Amino acid sequence: MNKVNIAIVGATGMVGTTFIKVLEERQFPIENIYFFASAKSKGQKISFMGAEYEIEELTESVFDRDIDIALFSAGGDISKKFAPIAKAKGVVVVDNSSFWRMDPDVPLVVPEVNASDVYNHNGIIANPNCSTIQCVVPLKVLDDAYKIKRIVYSTYQAVSGSGMKGIRDLEQGLLGNPPTNYPHPIANNCLPHIDVFMTGGYTKEEMKMIDETRKILGNPTLKVTATAVRVPVMNAHSVSINVEFENAFDLDDAIDMLSKSPGIIVMNDSPANDYPMPLNVSGTDEVYVGRIRRDESLDHGLNLWVVADNIRKGAATNTVQIAELLLQSR
Ligand code: NAP
Repeated sequence: MNKVNIAIVGATGMVGTTFIKVLEERQFPIENIYFFASAKSKGQKISFMGAEYEIEELTESVFDRDIDIALFSAGGDISKKFAPIAKAKGVVVVDNSSFWRMDPDVPLVVPEVNASDVYNHNGIIANPNCSTIQCVVPLKVLDDAYKIKRIVYSTYQAVSGSGMKGIRDLEQGLLGNPPTNYPHPIANNCLPHIDVFMTGGYTKEEMKMIDETRKILGNPTLKVTATAVRVPVMNAHSVSINVEFENAFDLDDAIDMLSKSPGIIVMNDSPANDYPMPLNVSGTDEVYVGRIRRDESLDHGLNLWVVADNIRKGAATNTVQIAELLLQSR
């Protein structure tokens, strides 16, 4: 496979540093790699595949070199400004921020779900919201089999989802210090508030889950609702999913299908206390599904407990998987 030139934008961040790990682990075929962050990180050293690199400040001119793919994770404002600049210079951007996700011209891709959408890009491909990614992986399998009528999401999201600032608030909160990132203490607490409040009383995180699920599953009118909650867990998001189908289903068949699907690990022996938890899922790349049971209050309803590492499958790993699909098309 031909080697490519890669840029990492936001190389010092929670997601950016994990890009580096995942690229190394998956032996991504790289000829040259460049690391960009803010002015404050300029000149810092970063090691990749045994060599040392210097972080450069992100400016408009950094893309004036031969870069094939840029992996962005420096926030929406940076993606808004710099993704079009990179694109104009022939770079394909895979973006982790929410800025481009709902643009009709930008594919929103989870490789296990809608890999072929990658090839309809116009220079920018979006990586979905972390909680959405882990939900649509099992939901796509079930949608294909039984046709989803309605989804109810309730999330339990780790502080690493807020980047370095979230980790700091939990660590400092456990020492009795006040928060600097969240509006309330996160230590020994739960905050039913992720991202800003929007009209109708929903948060932006909840609306991302609703809108992005519809876009990825290709059903703009799908009934979806969500409550997103930040919990005092360092890493790995959990989601309780209640899903209603149009069609009847056999529970054992549903479990069997999920077990055989790529990217999913079923941990469903509840009597043996076997179910996914952030502590055993953190650091892995798969989506874990457990507590799979009928919702007896509906004709065709199912409850699932879904856990994944939000920094890996929810961000870095999914982004690198998208970049791998791009390589296949070269
Ligand atoms: P983070 O840990 O706070 O890192 C932010 C990164 O952006 C750092 O590398 C920072 O560089 C860089 N940056 C900030 N201002 C910049 C500027 N003016 N120019 C260039 N680089 C700049 O945040 P994160 O958690 O990695 O999240 C990054 C992005 O990924 C966000 O859009 C987030 O929504 C998205 N995302 C995060 C998750 C998650 O679970 N954490 C999941 C999916 C998507 P300096 O160190 O130099 O400031």
